[in-house]
Amino acid sequence: MPSDTEILEAVEVYARRRGVSARLADPGAAALTWQFLLDFRIVRSVEERGERPMREPGSRREELAGRPTYTSIESYRVAPPDDPERHDAWRLVRRGSLGEERCEKCKGGTNSCGACGGRGVRDCPRFVDCPVCQGGPDACWECEGTGRRRAGRPAHPYAAAPSAHRVLCTRCRTSQVACPKCGGRRQLDCTTCKKTGSVQCGTCEGTKRVIHQECEGTGRFTVWTEGYINQSPRREKERRLGRLDLRRTTGNAGRWHETVLRGAADELPDDLDEADRTLIDPLLAPRKDEVARRATLRRLPLAHVRVHADPHRDYYAFPSHTGIEVTSRPTKERVRNVAAIAAASLVLVALFAALGMAVLR
Ligand SMILES: [Zn+2]
Ligand SMILES: [Zn+2]
Ligand SMILES: [Zn+2]
Ligand SMILES: [Zn+2]
Ligand SMILES: [Zn+2]
Repeated sequence: MPSDTEILEAVEVYARRRGVSARLADPGAAALTWQFLLDFRIVRSVEERGERPMREPGSRREELAGRPTYTSIESYRVAPPDDPERHDAWRLVRRGSLGEERCEKCKGGTNSCGACGGRGVRDCPRFVDCPVCQGGPDACWECEGTGRRRAGRPAHPYAAAPSAHRVLCTRCRTSQVACPKCGGRRQLDCTTCKKTGSVQCGTCEGTKRVIHQECEGTGRFTVWTEGYINQSPRREKERRLGRLDLRRTTGNAGRWHETVLRGAADELPDDLDEADRTLIDPLLAPRKDEVARRATLRRLPLAHVRVHADPHRDYYAFPSHTGIEVTSRPTKERVRNVAAIAAASLVLVALFAALGMAVLR
């Protein structure tokens, strides 16, 4: 940390370049106050443990036998992570809990097909209505598809004009009166079942049985008690980075002093002031289920210098990687005044505009 004299010398050189010449070491020429910028972060690895009952289809004994076992999940030991940022997870099997049970809702992994009632086939009509005459009386102008000639009944409305498109009726043997598609039969043989009256069931493909989804067709379940341990990071921070328009400069150029604490017993540096210690201490208290931590405290001493000969600017100086970095900003009051003047100018502009309008009328 630089001395007050070194800071004032650096500010003097900087101010001279801005056209302000004053010997800042003279009594009353400058006022210097120190503050510490603070950037504190802590990341903890927090562990979560528990047990849950498991039941999964099929035989998984072999696969699960490869997992570590435990008797009490609370006392099972796992190493804390080297890096508390890391996510880690363990899946364990409670000793003696691994077993298999038969699926009670099926027989060896399958059930009777519900779609066909376990028959493997489904009913299908042997005949279908003729699409040309719609299976109606138009099938034959003589017998209407019944096979009985009209004898005594009134003639069919179209019977007087026999058509070339009409064919011999297979029912009543009259020529040029029947539907060309069905030949007077009103119906056609079903092509789906080829007149057999049944088709293979599409659900079971004729096997009469379907796979039981719940046990995935295995007819059994593997059961066990799973213990789980998860380690995951939790982050907290506390920062006091000073005025907003300086942060980029201090962040990039500042030679921040860094302290890393890894254990819950590690102490904050002795030279940390009381207010900062009060701010950070609560964040360092050990948390339940914490297994590792890394706390990083970064500090940068920042000198604020008011120069009597230049009352409208704040000068700032801090240690950098090359020596002492100096920068300056208009004072807050100055910024406020300038803003007030700008606002007043806007009011005047508006006023003149209004007057101009009035004159034009
Ligand atoms: Zn089953
Ligand atoms: Zn059919
Ligand atoms: Zn006929
Ligand atoms: Zn027909
Ligand atoms: Zn079926």
